[in-house]
Amino acid sequence: MRPMKRIAAALMALAVICTAVLLPQPVSAVTQSDIDALKGDASDLTSQKKALEAKLASLSDDKAEVMKKKELLDQQIAVQVKEISNVESQISTYADLISQTQAELADAQAREAAQYELFCRRVRAMEEEGTVSYWSVLFKADNFTDLLDRLDAVNEIMDADQAVIDQLKALQNEISEKEASLKSSKADAEAAKTDLESKKSALDSQRKQANQLIQQLGANEDETEAAIDGLAEEEEAIQKRIQEMSRKLAEEQAAANGGQVSNAALGGYIWPVDSHYVTSTFGGRASPGGIGSTNHKGVDIGRVGYTTTVHAAKAGTIIVAQRSSSYGNYVVISHGSGNTTLYGHMSSLKVSAGTYVNQGDAIGITGSTGNSTGPHLHFEISENGVRINPLKYLTGYTLAG
Ligand SMILES: [Zn+2]
Repeated sequence: MRPMKRIAAALMALAVICTAVLLPQPVSAVTQSDIDALKGDASDLTSQKKALEAKLASLSDDKAEVMKKKELLDQQIAVQVKEISNVESQISTYADLISQTQAELADAQAREAAQYELFCRRVRAMEEEGTVSYWSVLFKADNFTDLLDRLDAVNEIMDADQAVIDQLKALQNEISEKEASLKSSKADAEAAKTDLESKKSALDSQRKQANQLIQQLGANEDETEAAIDGLAEEEEAIQKRIQEMSRKLAEEQAAANGGQVSNAALGGYIWPVDSHYVTSTFGGRASPGGIGSTNHKGVDIGRVGYTTTVHAAKAGTIIVAQRSSSYGNYVVISHGSGNTTLYGHMSSLKVSAGTYVNQGDAIGITGSTGNSTGPHLHFEISENGVRINPLKYLTGYTLAG
C-alpha cells in the first residue's frame, strides 16, 4: 500500500471515530414551550385579577357592602396565591432548563475539543508525511495511471479533511447557540425571581387589608349591627340547610341499602389540624376585635397560618364545599343523620360536594376568608342536629392566654 492510501485510510478511520463521538442530542426534558405554557396560565390569572379589581372598585365604602368587599378580596388573594405558585413553577422550570443547557454545552465543548484534536492530528500527519500540498502529491506521478491513483487518494483526503473542518464549525455554532440560550434563560429566571418577590409582598398586603376590613367593621358597634345581623341570619340559614341535607343524605343511603335510617355512632373525631392551640372556645364570648358571633358555635384553632392542611375529623360524605360571607370557604361533612362537622375560613378547598372522605383526608388549606380577622380554622361539630362543644371530644389542647 502506498503511503498516500495509508494516510487516506487513517483519516477515514479517524473520521469514523469522530462520528462515533458525535452522539445524538439528548431528548430535552424541558423546553422553552413549557415555560410559555406557564406564562399563558399567568396571563389568564392576570385577567381574573383585573375583573375582580373592577368589581371591587364598583363597591362603595357603605358598611353593608363590606362583607361583599371581603369576599372579593378573598377571591383576589386566592388568585394571587395561584399566581405565586405559577411563578414558582416557572422558576423551577428555568432551573431545569438551565442545568440541562449547561450539560449540553459541556458535552458540545468536549466534542469540539475532540474534533479540534482530530484536526491538529491531521495537520501533523500531513506535515510528517510531507503531503502538506495535495499538488505536490500529484506532481510526483510517474505515469498517467499513477496520477489517477494519486488523484483518487487526494480526493479521499480532501473529503475527509473537509468533514473534519465542517464538524468543527458545526460544533462551534452549536456552542455559541447554547451559550446564548443559557444567558437568556438565566436573565429570564432572574426576572421571574424578582416578580415572585413583588407578588409575595402584594399577597402580604392584600391579606392585611382583608383582615383589617373585618377589624374596622368591629370597631364601631352602630355600623356593625347591620352586618352582624346579616351574618347571623346567613349562619342560621346555612345551619338549617346543613341539617336538612345531612338527614336527606342519611335517608338516601339507608334506602339504597334497603334499611332504615339508623343513628350513627357519636364521637370518634380527630383534630382537623396539627395545631391544638384554641384561640376561642364554644359558647358566649366577647367578640375579639372582629364581628364574630358573640355566641360562638364552634372552636377557633390558631397558629395555623395560610398553608396548613385541614383534615376530615371523621369519615363521611362532603355535603357542602363552597363560599359564604360568614364562613368564607367552608366544608361540611355528614357523618350520619344530623351529625356533621364544619370547617371554616379556609384559603382553598380540596374537595367537592358528594365526595366520600376517610378520616384524616385532606379537605382544604387554612386561611382567613369570610368573617375572619386572621388565619385560623373555625371548627364545629353537630350531633343530632345541634352544635356541641368540640372540646368534648378534642383533647390535649392549649387555650390562648
Ligand atoms: Zn370561630
